[in-house]
Amino acid sequence: MKNKKLNPESLMMSYGYDPHLSEGAIKCPIFQTSTFVFKTAEEGKAFFEVAYGLREKGENEELGLIYSRLNNPDLEILEDRLTLWDDAEACAVFESGMSAITTCLLEFLKPGDLLLYSNPLYGGTDHFITSFLPSYGIHTLGFDPSKSKEEIIDLIESSGMKDKLSLIYIETPANPTNDLIDITACSEIAKQFSSDEKKVYLTVDNTYLGPLWQHPLKHGADLVVYSATKYIGGHSDVIAGSCLGSNELIGRVKTLRTFMGNMAGPWTGWLLMRSLETLKVRMEQQAKNAFAVAEFLKTHPKVESVYYLGYLEDENQKAIFDKQCLSPGAMLSFDVKGGEKEAFSFLNNLKIMKLAVSLGSTESLAQHPASMTHAGVNPELKSSLNISDKMIRLSIGVENADDLIWDIDQALSV
Ligand SMILES: *Cc1c(COP(=O)(O)O)cnc(C)c1O
Repeated sequence: MKNKKLNPESLMMSYGYDPHLSEGAIKCPIFQTSTFVFKTAEEGKAFFEVAYGLREKGENEELGLIYSRLNNPDLEILEDRLTLWDDAEACAVFESGMSAITTCLLEFLKPGDLLLYSNPLYGGTDHFITSFLPSYGIHTLGFDPSKSKEEIIDLIESSGMKDKLSLIYIETPANPTNDLIDITACSEIAKQFSSDEKKVYLTVDNTYLGPLWQHPLKHGADLVVYSATKYIGGHSDVIAGSCLGSNELIGRVKTLRTFMGNMAGPWTGWLLMRSLETLKVRMEQQAKNAFAVAEFLKTHPKVESVYYLGYLEDENQKAIFDKQCLSPGAMLSFDVKGGEKEAFSFLNNLKIMKLAVSLGSTESLAQHPASMTHAGVNPELKSSLNISDKMIRLSIGVENADDLIWDIDQALSV
């Protein structure tokens, strides 16, 4: 029989792990150790030469373990498994999504550079970009999802800093409105403003659709970042992040990670490997449930509008969806008729769904973006993005869909 290229879900239980190196244990143990013993001084020297980039790794040379800030089996095996979903060359795992994002931004931006980013962004990312980076002399320029490729190019041209552009950072679908940004168009913009001396990179935060439903590297992105706290972890019990791309770019990110010291620890690595075994079944069930919930909300008399990727009306948005998204996902928002009072009454009366921020987990969560996740967003931007007091955001879990619909119905009826 010919070799078959196995799908990621078939490899999540075993890929990159050799039981015979760990007493035959079927699962990768937690390597709860800070440092690793070298067999000889010569071996220690060789490991450091490669780790510090003093020379290239030999063709058949095994990269040895040194110290858990540089490498650890739970981290390395997890990173190898994560590359499979996005078909990436390399991956770096961090102790949070924010540490993955900020390390990437700091590695690819230097004082005087221009960063172009999409609105709205995750609150933490938005704060880092608009409040922290400028204090290091980095210029920032935001654009809305309604902007066409030509309008974005005009924006860069008229900024007076087009030669300084070094990174484009986008989040699509946008949270909480599900607005889509065209990844291919952004990668073309990055190419257009690249020169021989300076390549402009494109980074996509793919947390909202997760590694199953959108693969930005295939559409021209250079780097993908995730809050692994969300779908990848999937059980609301761990904070983590990851970054994927080419060997070259992830090599740079890992070098900075070594000195920032924000890599994930062995326990986080082990938990995420456990989570990855069920990633696909969880996400598929979540998407099925989300569709049932969206269908119910669509015709409910107390609901004004539903923001769900399955219901796109705008032709441009629909075309982007068809090009780059593989599912409407399990995140949706809706406007209740009324305002904050009606929205809060709904949230306070839920019985199964939990009133909490975060997303992508086995349990369904509900929250009020205007006063919670997006409380810090500039009020004008908030209203131009439709994030109003009547909006509720739902993250749909793996519960029984009829039970969820019953819960939503009774909370809307109070
Ligand atoms: C949660 C989230 C983050 C931040 O990740 P943490 O794991 O909380 O640090 C970044 N981007 C998006 C889209 C998120 O939802």
